[in-house]
Amino acid sequence: MKDVNCLVKMKDVIYADNAATTKIDNKAYIEMQRFLKDDYSNPSQPYVFSKESKLALKRAREIIAKCINAEPEEIVFTSGGTESDNWAINGIMLLHQKNKRMITDEIEHHAILNTCKFIEKIGYGVDYVTVNNVGQIEISNLEKKISEDTVLISIMMANNEIGTIQPIKDLCNLAHKNNIIFHTDAVQAIGHIPIDVKDLGVDLMSASAHKFNGPKGIGFLYIKSGINVESMLHGGRQEFGLRAGTENVAAIVAMAIALQNNCVNIETNLEKTKEVERFFLGELQQTQFDYIINGDLNNKLPGIINISFKNANGEMLLHRLDLKGICVSTGSACDSVENQISHVIKAIKVSNEYAEGTIRISFCKENTQQEAKQIVQELYNILNN
Ligand code: PLP
Repeated sequence: MKDVNCLVKMKDVIYADNAATTKIDNKAYIEMQRFLKDDYSNPSQPYVFSKESKLALKRAREIIAKCINAEPEEIVFTSGGTESDNWAINGIMLLHQKNKRMITDEIEHHAILNTCKFIEKIGYGVDYVTVNNVGQIEISNLEKKISEDTVLISIMMANNEIGTIQPIKDLCNLAHKNNIIFHTDAVQAIGHIPIDVKDLGVDLMSASAHKFNGPKGIGFLYIKSGINVESMLHGGRQEFGLRAGTENVAAIVAMAIALQNNCVNIETNLEKTKEVERFFLGELQQTQFDYIINGDLNNKLPGIINISFKNANGEMLLHRLDLKGICVSTGSACDSVENQISHVIKAIKVSNEYAEGTIRISFCKENTQQEAKQIVQELYNILNN
């Protein structure tokens, strides 16, 4: 039997799931190939042939550091957002005694929440701060969770399902006033909104290349100079002795190029994305469906639109749109496997009659008004039948 996906020619696909992953940047893709095929040397080797890959790593670290106003030595390459999040939490907690505690919030990505479960299992404490009905953390609520045993606070910069952006600078100030280390998962934010780590004051920050037009399976952890973290991968002396393993030079080079391109064009990209979003919302309004848009509409990542349709079924919407070659998500990519109301939608207390009809559309700079119009048209057809 023919796979149903084959019925849709890939060139006809409307990709509106950019929070799940993004298309690789052209220049990054071209440059990547050179380090896979020609300059394929191991950057740790001393001979002349390794000079190019060694230099490429150095340049990539400098480019990335500049994009977020960090120092090159503060950038450590990892295999992506999940590893960076795991490392930030385990790497700090394991330096402390078993009864110490950390704080996070209830709408983090599972890379954070499941790492928290792990450290609880091995004897540490985790306190969870609630969010309000647009997904914002109120500083006074975070303050109430701080105890003399708290050693780490981890709060995401922007949520992957609803796009809400947290007041990271203020939350970080509160942490520092109490001598607590502050980590932020910036996987959805970096390359899409301006980030200055010195201004924010964060101690650790996670990033993943495939969310900003880089390749999959590569990312980095920003570790502020002077912050100690326990190594998680033991072996060779790569990455300042903090993370062993031969570096994925091609992917690192591509990540740096993709981030630089996004950061240089950040304002234009923001405007293009916002324009498509505004157009989509205008078209949607005209359908007169009963729906709500979730998240903090005054302070969210452009492009992420989380909609709950009354008395609808998000899974059904996703699959019916898929048949028309339209890619959206029901929540986070991980949740779509579990097929239930996501922890984020539960945390912001969307009522059941709307919650089950939730989909996430995530536009990028390349989406067009024509595509937005077509998505609304298909939604109209599906919900009216
Ligand atoms: N953190 C957030 C907020 C994410 O959205 C994701 C991926 O969806 C991750 C972490 C995990 O990143 P990766 O896919 O690079 O492991």
